[in-house]
Amino acid sequence: MATYVHMFLLPVCIIVVFRIVSCTDHLLPLVINTWQFSNATAKAWDVISKDGSALDAVEQGCSVCEVQQCDGSVGYGGSPDENGETTLDAMIMDGITHDVGSVADLRRVKTAISVARSVMEYTQHTLLVGDQATQFAIEMGFKEEDLHTNKSRQMWQDWKKGNCQPNYRQNVTPDPKKSCGPYKPNKARKIKLSKEQRYNKEVGEGNHDTIGMVVIDSMGNVAGGTSTNGANHKVPGRVGDSPIAGAGAYVDNTIGGAAATGDGGVMMRFLPTYQVVESMGSGVDPTSACKLAINRITKYYPNFSGALVAANLSGMYGAACHGFSTFHYSIRSPGMANVTVEAVPCS
Ligand code: ASP
Repeated sequence: MATYVHMFLLPVCIIVVFRIVSCTDHLLPLVINTWQFSNATAKAWDVISKDGSALDAVEQGCSVCEVQQCDGSVGYGGSPDENGETTLDAMIMDGITHDVGSVADLRRVKTAISVARSVMEYTQHTLLVGDQATQFAIEMGFKEEDLHTNKSRQMWQDWKKGNCQPNYRQNVTPDPKKSCGPYKPNKARKIKLSKEQRYNKEVGEGNHDTIGMVVIDSMGNVAGGTSTNGANHKVPGRVGDSPIAGAGAYVDNTIGGAAATGDGGVMMRFLPTYQVVESMGSGVDPTSACKLAINRITKYYPNFSGALVAANLSGMYGAACHGFSTFHYSIRSPGMANVTVEAVPCS
């Protein structure tokens, strides 16, 4: 397989070497994902090392995080919503066909990215949501089970005891900065909030994360995916960027792919992973492409926090971030003996 990989890469490297940098230590195949979720990276690498497809690698890699509850922000038992329930968002995208399968606000099923893959493979739809997504999952043979854990119950009880702080409500009565609901809308609907006020700084590194992964397999095929339990104490029914193609992840077999993590409520308004892939398609290197997409968001939301990872078909990869001090991501490519965690300073 190694010979095959090098045969595949050689022409790409010759083209790229003049335009960007030497790609000798950035070969394909490649796995890149958000955060220090190295077990997920290792699983995806294992799949492609055994000639598995990029799609299988993304599904199995992200599944590791769902089982291991990476950072408490992926899989069951994390980020209880205002009612104390954990709900899951996930997507998978095939760079060959541009087929996408997603689930959002999935309830009582742990294996969100596999359900997303079933949406892609057993329906002509892209996105199923809420209890109907659960119903579909059960029809497809997935197990219905409780996603609560002692930890998620405790988190929710502590939040209730602390007057439901922080939360994501605004322009409602009683004052959401001081009290729990139920809330009613304020009469004056058009309250203009400043750029800073329109962003909830409580949405920091500590209370949400996503595994967002891009894999380029030994055939040069690209796939991407995400899985998350969203934002802590979200309003029930809230869906973030992760299950939205172009927001949580985006891939194109002729270019490469990108994946996101961070405040999805803000990030999904900009389709940043679509922008990254499009920029890379016009010759921008992955790191610069990620920076451009982050900069577009900060123009409108200077206090948002989030990060992007990207890789292109030459095996170049990069990341950019805003609002955290540093962002870590995990990577494996043939020049590395093991999964490597790299860090970028954030703007
Ligand atoms: N993007 C995810 C969401 O907003 C959370 C995260 O990645 O931090 O649901």
